[in-house]
Amino acid sequence: MPPANRPTFRFAPSPTGRLHLGHALSAILNAQEAQRVAGRFLLRIENTDLTRCTPENEAGIYEDLTWLGLRWEEPVRRQSEHFADYKDALERLQALGLIYPSFLSRGEVRRRIADAEATGQRWPRDPDGVPLYPGDERGMPDAERQARMASGAPFAWRLDMHAALMRVGHPLSWTETGEGPAGETGQVQADPSLWGDVVLARKEFPASYTLAVVVDDALQGITHVVRGRDLFHATAVHRLLQTLLDLPEPTYHHHRLVLDGEGRKLSKSAGSQSLADLRAAGATPGDIRVMLGL
Ligand code: GLU
Repeated sequence: MPPANRPTFRFAPSPTGRLHLGHALSAILNAQEAQRVAGRFLLRIENTDLTRCTPENEAGIYEDLTWLGLRWEEPVRRQSEHFADYKDALERLQALGLIYPSFLSRGEVRRRIADAEATGQRWPRDPDGVPLYPGDERGMPDAERQARMASGAPFAWRLDMHAALMRVGHPLSWTETGEGPAGETGQVQADPSLWGDVVLARKEFPASYTLAVVVDDALQGITHVVRGRDLFHATAVHRLLQTLLDLPEPTYHHHRLVLDGEGRKLSKSAGSQSLADLRAAGATPGDIRVMLGL
């Protein structure tokens, strides 16, 4: 059991590529804040997506963080070693009747939305701009669900957002000590419905980020979540799952994003320079802190 009442922070990267400056900012802010309040600093490897996460990238995380001069408590929690915890949580939601298996392929969803939009209807999109899932299978009879799942068809377990909100029955909020994209801070209203029927697991992946992050923050006794502003709106769904699963509520601090020369968020896909590239080009850990304005 984690020691009670000690402020506990975590840096939770996914090993889908090498760390860049945005990760460095998150890791350093977490470690600094933990040190300032005599709290704990944990590292969690978010590798539930076994097709995109690699051992080389995971080794790179330890190497880069050590180079930056950071130290974390051992053992590191690696999500791929804890699938049973996420399955338990999924089964609790299932017992409450709040999840359903969904079978539409990406192409089918796209077609459905194109058809609807061709008639002048505007299909709702989530805060990341992704169209909400149509939710066809919400009312599927149980026998048909079982038959479809047994047929070997791919499927995803989704939260029935409407049913989940009905079950909670009261507005949700969180304490924000950082700032959202529109300057939101303090007690922030959570609106999980913006995300529709989110994926919690897939046939081949026992847990999505959304499910694993709330389970792990609770199991690791995380009291302070410090992370990039790109996850600000996702916090609404995290608060919903915490409430449904009876998990404690951390305080949230969403920090500024590190942007590239064109004002875009750093990412592997945009070819952003990694910490390893910067190091190879001669940068020191002190240079990285200067580049981050720390
Ligand atoms: N694994 C997530 C990422 O790398 C971060 C999750 C979090 O801090 O809640 O973007």
